[in-house]
Amino acid sequence: MTLTGVRALFDKYGILPTAQRLEIANILLEKPQHLSAEHIIEKLKEAESAVSKATVYNTLNLFSERGLVKEVMVDPVRKFYDSTTHPHHHFYNVDSGELSDIPEDNVLFEKLPRLPEGTKRSSVEVLIRVRDQG
Ligand SMILES: [Zn+2]
Repeated sequence: MTLTGVRALFDKYGILPTAQRLEIANILLEKPQHLSAEHIIEKLKEAESAVSKATVYNTLNLFSERGLVKEVMVDPVRKFYDSTTHPHHHFYNVDSGELSDIPEDNVLFEKLPRLPEGTKRSSVEVLIRVRDQG
């Protein structure tokens, strides 16, 4: 994504474009992908960036709060940031730690429970955990 594209997205989601935020967004929005905060910190280090770890965590929280990226929690201590924000499902390989997409229409629900009184459905997303064979 171009810098202009990233700035336009910041505008859309009400995010102030600081240099650090642009740097982090450039990494995350480069292509459809799932990155953890650690992945991003690693990539910033490779690029000899001066962005601190704390800034990375704060920025990622802000991005997901505003809807620029989607948070995918694979277990209580592991979180990914997904550059694809429309509804879809995931495979999570617990052996390799890899998260991959499943198109939304590849999962069909035959029966869903009645929603609690006074609520409406917000989203239904499935995480299928897999292991390497052998
Ligand atoms: Zn995804």
